[in-house]
Amino acid sequence: MTKNLSILGSTGSIGKQSLDVCRKCGYKVKALTAFSSVDEIEKQAREFKPELVALVDENAAGDLKTRLADTDTKVLAGVDGVCECAALESADTVLNSVVGMAGLKPTLAAIKAKKKIALANKETLVAGGQLVYSEAEKYGVDILPVDSEHSAIFQCLQGRPSNKALKKIILTASGGPFFGKTRDELKNVTVENALNHPNWAMGAKITVDSATMMNKGLELIEAVWLFKVKPEDIDIVVHRESIVHSAVEYDDNSVIAQLGVPDMRIPIQYALTYPERFESPVEELNLAQIGKLTFYNPDYSTFSCINLCKKAISMGGLMPAAVNSANEQANLMFRKGEIGFLEIAERVERVFGRVPEYTDYTLDDVMEIDALSREIVRGD
Ligand code: MG
Repeated sequence: MTKNLSILGSTGSIGKQSLDVCRKCGYKVKALTAFSSVDEIEKQAREFKPELVALVDENAAGDLKTRLADTDTKVLAGVDGVCECAALESADTVLNSVVGMAGLKPTLAAIKAKKKIALANKETLVAGGQLVYSEAEKYGVDILPVDSEHSAIFQCLQGRPSNKALKKIILTASGGPFFGKTRDELKNVTVENALNHPNWAMGAKITVDSATMMNKGLELIEAVWLFKVKPEDIDIVVHRESIVHSAVEYDDNSVIAQLGVPDMRIPIQYALTYPERFESPVEELNLAQIGKLTFYNPDYSTFSCINLCKKAISMGGLMPAAVNSANEQANLMFRKGEIGFLEIAERVERVFGRVPEYTDYTLDDVMEIDALSREIVRGD
């Protein structure tokens, strides 16, 4: 169980909710990192008094250093500073809630320093799953999922006799704000429309990923790595209410699901308290009040990003990394108003056949594919 925690990406949605869990559970916060949010991280540093804080943006870090001059907290800058926070001696657990594949390097730094990893940064596994797990095995490190679906699957797998008995994983998806819409209706949707998620309050990148359903494709790849299953053994089912957070089916066709109100503080807390469970500030689930739960097959032709992820993980190597980086670029371009909603999938698809295939890879290879994929997506 966690006692001393470092949080990477502490000013984002998951980061803030993780700090809320720390307040309730009394965990000590040893390090905090963010990209450039000086005001928020200053507030957090004054409340939690960590040993270290780091901002990726060097100018913002300089500003923060001046602001925190009257405290005992040391301020670091750049990706190296974040990696130093991830490896900080006094923490036993690192919660990684960085957005995007920028979380990969710090995850590897934390693994090398033998920290338990509570992983909210799915792109770490999508971009570098093979690398992350070979390092985790080498250093004897556990990786616990924070993503709500993967926490659900992890919870459903507790007490199983062996991985052999597991027949398939049922990954639930909310369907996002555009569920039921046709491609024609999605041609002219705006960033504002895409950011209007029905059930979950999340950051902008993941909310757009949820609208394209790329998020579910990335989660399928994440599940392949976390639970050592084949992509074809994962079914995706749209569940509009976001009450069933995912399920597993065993050989005897018994299906075990995990349910709860949609609140990330449950999976965050479970990753930190595992295998124990404690009281949580989250509302109780009232099934009678919810009344009915609905399930549908995904519309794969409209939300084709899921297919691109399936294709990438089946091809293996660095294709998932390429698709992920391409999506990070296309998602950003959509949010900046540079491309239309349907163009996100079209641009991501361009990386197939245009990036080299790998069977084995290093971190440098991942970074190279990242740059190349973004370039392919940017080019007209
Ligand atoms: Mg999720």
